[in-house]
Amino acid sequence: MHPISAILVLCTSLLAVGAAQAAEPVPIQTAQVGPGLHVLFGQGGNVAVSTGPDGPVLIDDQYDYMVPGIEAAVAALQPGPVRFVINTHYHGDHTGGNDLLAAQGALVVAHENVRARMANPRVVEALGVNDPARAGVSLPVVTFEDGVVLHWNGHEIQVEHVAPAHTDGDSHVWFPHAGAVHMGDTFFNGIYPFIDVFSGGSIAGMIAAADAVLTRAADDVKIIPGHGPLANKADLRATRAMLVTVRDRVAAAQAAGEEQAAFIARKPLADLDPKWGGGFLKAEQLLGLVWADLSSAVTRE
Ligand SMILES: [Zn+2]
Repeated sequence: MHPISAILVLCTSLLAVGAAQAAEPVPIQTAQVGPGLHVLFGQGGNVAVSTGPDGPVLIDDQYDYMVPGIEAAVAALQPGPVRFVINTHYHGDHTGGNDLLAAQGALVVAHENVRARMANPRVVEALGVNDPARAGVSLPVVTFEDGVVLHWNGHEIQVEHVAPAHTDGDSHVWFPHAGAVHMGDTFFNGIYPFIDVFSGGSIAGMIAAADAVLTRAADDVKIIPGHGPLANKADLRATRAMLVTVRDRVAAAQAAGEEQAAFIARKPLADLDPKWGGGFLKAEQLLGLVWADLSSAVTRE
């Protein structure tokens, strides 16, 4: 077994492709973010919904089994088919609904690395991941390198690629008219983040992605995280500070020549766990990812 398999095995479920899941739908909760902009909380990544005269646009679409609930929630906001789906990155809990929505006419838009990664099998021995390639209508049909703007529903939806953070295909989606941004999985609000170091992600990139929003956004910006509740700048600052602490502690241990197992065994994040450890990623898993990231002991695809 790969040395970090034991630490990372629980990450596998985060990466699973929706079509392979035999999970039960959960009820969708809808909250308004701003004019013509809502967020849907269900299972998997948070979904943003733009509504207006041109028709609904979704940012991410959770799993295939969540699509009926998502469609019902969207229909309650605005009747009519979903016209575009923008994927913030390629993970299955953000793209699992692509197939069903595209089959009903939605056009999927994403960074070029999202399409490339979805179109190839994903095998990561350390994570126990062996996912088949996605194909056909589930793949983005519109891809971009740096960004793209949808002029839609009477306003701009600005999709901007950020330097590798959670993966190497991350985008932030800005809604200037609503004073809001969807950060995808470059931001987990209130819980330890999964950082997909096997897909080009890094903790330095996660910190930089937070800085990009903190620098650009107005003080009253409404931030939709990939996971967790709707957030503000203070929430993002707190997450950034936590990431810096984790990075510094791992770097210090490595600089001191400490062994990974001994480092993790002494629970170096015990003071952070009460606030951040209640999510699906536990301290030892985050530490395993960051250790591999900072020591380059990871096979990047
Ligand atoms: Zn993700």
